Amino acid sequence: MATKRIHNFSAGPAVLPVPVLEEACENMLSLGDLGMGIMEISHRSKQFSAIIEEAEADLRELLNLPADFHVLFLQGGATLQFSMVPMNLLGPNQTADYIVTGVWSEKAVKEAKKVGEVHIAADTKAENHNRIPQAAEIKLSKSPAYVHFTSNNTIFGTQWPAEPAGADELLVVDASSDILSRPLAIDKYAVIYAGAQKNLGPSGLALVIVRDDLLSRPRDSLPTYLNYKIHAKSKSLYNTPNTWGVYLMGLVFKWIKSQGGLEAMEEANRSKASLLYDAIDGSDFFRGHAEPGSRSLMNVTWRLPTEELDARFVSAAEAAGLSGLKGHRNVGGLRASIYNACPRRAVEDLVAFMNDFESKNG
Ligand SMILES: *Cc1c(COP(=O)(O)O)cnc(C)c1O
Repeated sequence: MATKRIHNFSAGPAVLPVPVLEEACENMLSLGDLGMGIMEISHRSKQFSAIIEEAEADLRELLNLPADFHVLFLQGGATLQFSMVPMNLLGPNQTADYIVTGVWSEKAVKEAKKVGEVHIAADTKAENHNRIPQAAEIKLSKSPAYVHFTSNNTIFGTQWPAEPAGADELLVVDASSDILSRPLAIDKYAVIYAGAQKNLGPSGLALVIVRDDLLSRPRDSLPTYLNYKIHAKSKSLYNTPNTWGVYLMGLVFKWIKSQGGLEAMEEANRSKASLLYDAIDGSDFFRGHAEPGSRSLMNVTWRLPTEELDARFVSAAEAAGLSGLKGHRNVGGLRASIYNACPRRAVEDLVAFMNDFESKNG
């Protein structure tokens, strides 16, 4: 493709695989030889039925999803799930446990408290969320309805190395920024949800995977759209879904399969992230935000000796074709989001830029 593309380290919406974008371009004006573009066809058409069914089948294959899990393509991003999870899973005399490891977990707690009883099982705010809590720090309540955690903390650059212990089959995860970046121990989960715009596709779509036995929990008084049971029964076609988003997500699933699936994805992600962490650790000029045992493979956060240098780094990088490196205001410094679709070449060029910047400013 002749279009010029720079290195995009945006936290989200984020870079998508080029072959996916190219295929989407081809089908924009006409889906195959249909004479109508992908965004212009009915969500009840046989063409779209095939697209949504194939997307689900590919996802099931990637995650090795047991038959008792439903796959839902919903709207409202990950944020609506902060409300839908407790509305569907938290009964009147129950408690939901939340492990707080960042801003997104805090937002999930805020919404759950509007619905029912919340117990904070651990909170790393005192250390500006620079780490994942140790097993001994996590104090679950006696009989939680579910245990919610954020697998990758997009803003702080931390990631759970493995699932929190002691809550098998009860785990609810916000996996917005690391879904499909590595294999998942699916038998530990009740619900997995993710906004699409980091690792899966365009914004405006949320992927929700929910175990069948949990669908007996919602009250019938729930607003219809907010009830998982309704979406499961209607196969995500209760109303008009984000057809474009589902189509693109399906292409991303196929792209991941073509890369060798989730094991291969994890290997590539580890290798990319270690290029950056090695550069950070190999110099006194750069300091990482996350503790080494808690480091994210998706969002790498670090800072320079002064805020002035941070700012100079961001603008010099931008001028060199390395976009989106300014850290979130809660952390400051720099952040490189290197999701599945971020090519290794982008990370190599960033590391070369870091070395060069240090030699001129260090
Ligand atoms: C981006 C993000 C969200 C918010 O997603 P929306 O789709 O904008 O609602 C929630 N959780 C995590 C972990 C995120 O990275």
